[in-house]
Amino acid sequence: YADVEQLGRSGWTLLHAITANYPERPSPTHQTETKQFISLFGKLYPCWVCADDFKAWMKDGNEPRVSNREEFGRWACEAHNAVNVKLGKESFDCNKWQERWRTGWKD
Ligand code: FAD
Repeated sequence: YADVEQLGRSGWTLLHAITANYPERPSPTHQTETKQFISLFGKLYPCWVCADDFKAWMKDGNEPRVSNREEFGRWACEAHNAVNVKLGKESFDCNKWQERWRTGWKD
């Protein structure tokens, strides 16, 4: 893919937006479909080295946690932080994921 940074910003926006709109009490079907989506996202994400590392991170004890919105949002935040660390970027405080992606900053 031509622009890994642009793709990344869009990719994270999509993922965090999905977690922000995830139900507080998802049905078993919704949870299953969400896990399938993440798995396919990892397969189809068009930066192949990114996708390989993302899949390896998930396999390494970080399977998506989809039991409710807070869990899923934190999982996505942790996934994003794993990439931040790899790229030498600052880690994001995952206590603030809802503020950043759902409710808006307070100030
Ligand atoms: P981004 O990292 O894109 O972040 C956008 C905004 O999200 C930030 O401004 C901040 O407000 C917020 N944010 C930051 N961290 C978090 C967090 N932990 N939780 C919630 N919100 C947060 N790039 C590579 O070069 N190599 C890779 O291997 C690679 N793997 C990737 C794997 C995936 C699954 C995705 C989606 C992207 C990957 N990227 C990779 C792209 C990379 O993560 C960045 O998106 C890209 O470098 C642009 O970075 P940025 O500094 O503009 O902000």
